[in-house]
Amino acid sequence: MNMFSKPRHESTELIILRYLNKRMILSEKDLLHLASLEKGYAGELIFDSWLERKLPNKFLVLSDLLLECNNTTFQIDSLVISPDPVYMFEVKNFEGDYVIKADKWYVRNGIEIQDPVLQLKRSETLLRKLLQQNGFQCTIEAYVVFVNPEFYLYQAPTNLPIIYPSQINRMLDKIKTNTLTPRERDYKLDSQLNSLHIVDSPYKRLPLYSYEQLKKGITCEKCSSFQVLYVNKLVVCTVCNHKEMAAKAVLRSVEEFRVLFPEKRISIDNIFNWCQIIDSKRTITTFLSANLHKVNHSRYTYFL
Ligand SMILES: [Zn+2]
Repeated sequence: MNMFSKPRHESTELIILRYLNKRMILSEKDLLHLASLEKGYAGELIFDSWLERKLPNKFLVLSDLLLECNNTTFQIDSLVISPDPVYMFEVKNFEGDYVIKADKWYVRNGIEIQDPVLQLKRSETLLRKLLQQNGFQCTIEAYVVFVNPEFYLYQAPTNLPIIYPSQINRMLDKIKTNTLTPRERDYKLDSQLNSLHIVDSPYKRLPLYSYEQLKKGITCEKCSSFQVLYVNKLVVCTVCNHKEMAAKAVLRSVEEFRVLFPEKRISIDNIFNWCQIIDSKRTITTFLSANLHKVNHSRYTYFL
């Protein structure tokens, strides 16, 4: 049994920003946003691997929950369901020196940042309410976990619910000592939270973009360069020399097209135009027919 009942994936927002970053010039603000999403995601993966290494499978783990309570949405990076309590973790991949002054958090060079403990408390309160509303009485223990060993916090009061990188191992050892086996309630809670999870639309936080504006073409699987050639059923990168089966490269590009333009049809013409380097529509047809479900309409054909 896998302990991650709700596994973690890159958010659609992160995936789209990665694609856009290859195909258009992003503003400074969007680039910073992309970098912070990448960093946050990397931090969450680090914490997942800690959980995987240290905790036995009987603990149920839910990642990246987006929930709503009293018309307020809140996110939980990791939730570990043990018979008692339920552990809630806000994962931070902060790097460098930070300082707390008069209850406010600053990067050491002076910029104020959002107080992660305050954010945690807010989510904890909402989760408690939500669980009560759904008939679950459980104790919640909530922590901000800093996973980056290069993180240092000056003047932190010792009573904050914070786990430092050097404490993660011991904290999980402590959780592990809970020897009770999962009860009916834990499975119920797990499936209830899974069903309450909201699928969020990322498009509202993304820069505006249009098909016309984006650079078309297949990019190298390895180095993301557009300097690739279609030779003998292969897509060959002239920058890093990486070779990929053309059919696979086309499907990879179709996936980018689908995520970037969910409203557009995956038709032969559209994909032919999107990929640029494949020499004939017949080749595109062969690749798509072999791998996607074909829908024949009286006037057009497209794929799902
Ligand atoms: Zn390359």
